[in-house]
Amino acid sequence: MEPTIFHKILAKEITASVVYEDTDVLAFRDIHPKAATHLLFIPKTFVESIAHATGASAYIPGMLIQKARAFAEQQGIDGYKLQFNVGKNGGQEVPYVHLHFLADTKID
Ligand code: 5GP
Repeated sequence: MEPTIFHKILAKEITASVVYEDTDVLAFRDIHPKAATHLLFIPKTFVESIAHATGASAYIPGMLIQKARAFAEQQGIDGYKLQFNVGKNGGQEVPYVHLHFLADTKID
């Protein structure tokens, strides 16, 4: 499989506006924001989509949600939307699992 755009962002081959990083995840601004704050949380361990997050990677969806929750808390954002698009028919354009984080509150 060809590396996706998110593989390249993770490898720092393509720049992104990173807002959070730790050993497990990278969070960066969506290039076409649909809210005042529109971030994408991706795991550092590759899995294609929620539909593929089974077995050893079954922890990934919950982990991404927990990271987004902790980020919101740390930023003082008390209202936000979280969304996974799953598969082409579910609107997933990039075949690298990612959690959309959308909030009306703007962050620095
Ligand atoms: P999907 O439709 O796969 O759930 O969401 C993919 C998201 O990735 C889209 O909202 C799109 O705007 C964003 N995106 C696509 N290419 C890039 C890029 O090169 N950089 C950043 N930061 N976001 C991207």
